[in-house]
Amino acid sequence: MASPPAPVSASPASSAQRKRGSTETIGLYAVQCCECHKWRTVPTKEEFETLRENFTDDPWVCTKRLDCSCKDPGDIEYDSSRIWVIDKPNIPKPPPKTDRLAVMRGDLSKLDIYYVMPNGKRARCTGDVQKFLDANPDYKDRISVESFSFATPKIVEETVSHSSAWKAGKAKKQDKTNASSSKN
Ligand SMILES: [Zn+2]
Repeated sequence: MASPPAPVSASPASSAQRKRGSTETIGLYAVQCCECHKWRTVPTKEEFETLRENFTDDPWVCTKRLDCSCKDPGDIEYDSSRIWVIDKPNIPKPPPKTDRLAVMRGDLSKLDIYYVMPNGKRARCTGDVQKFLDANPDYKDRISVESFSFATPKIVEETVSHSSAWKAGKAKKQDKTNASSSKN
């Protein structure tokens, strides 16, 4: 792919890191400069969430970083040596005391979005958030359902398609499709 399709990206951690029990599977955050199209790493998840929140109104350029300009070489190159997932722009920053997790499925087919709520429970959809607020009305002035987005990042297929886990998952899906079409 000559030019990565979308503004913000994050690549999942290695499977070894995942096995160590960390639930968050994103290992590195990066943003693409809208002028020179180089990729710059973003040091923390919090910073990434801040720039993602305003991405359309406030597109990212190299000069936003101290002592950095479009003339400097990129921090990382886009290639298939790591898995890339492209996040959606303009996702609201998670409300205080919540954490938004992107968790890669074992067959690398999809990421699931969860929020860890202030009580430690996970919310997987807006309905779960509503349930939390109904059970904990004290939070209603601090947390609104609109601040939650379950939009999933898109996995760049060419960066996973060489993985055996991905191939196995794909083959399984194919079998299912074949089985259901032969039934008809
Ligand atoms: Zn630039």
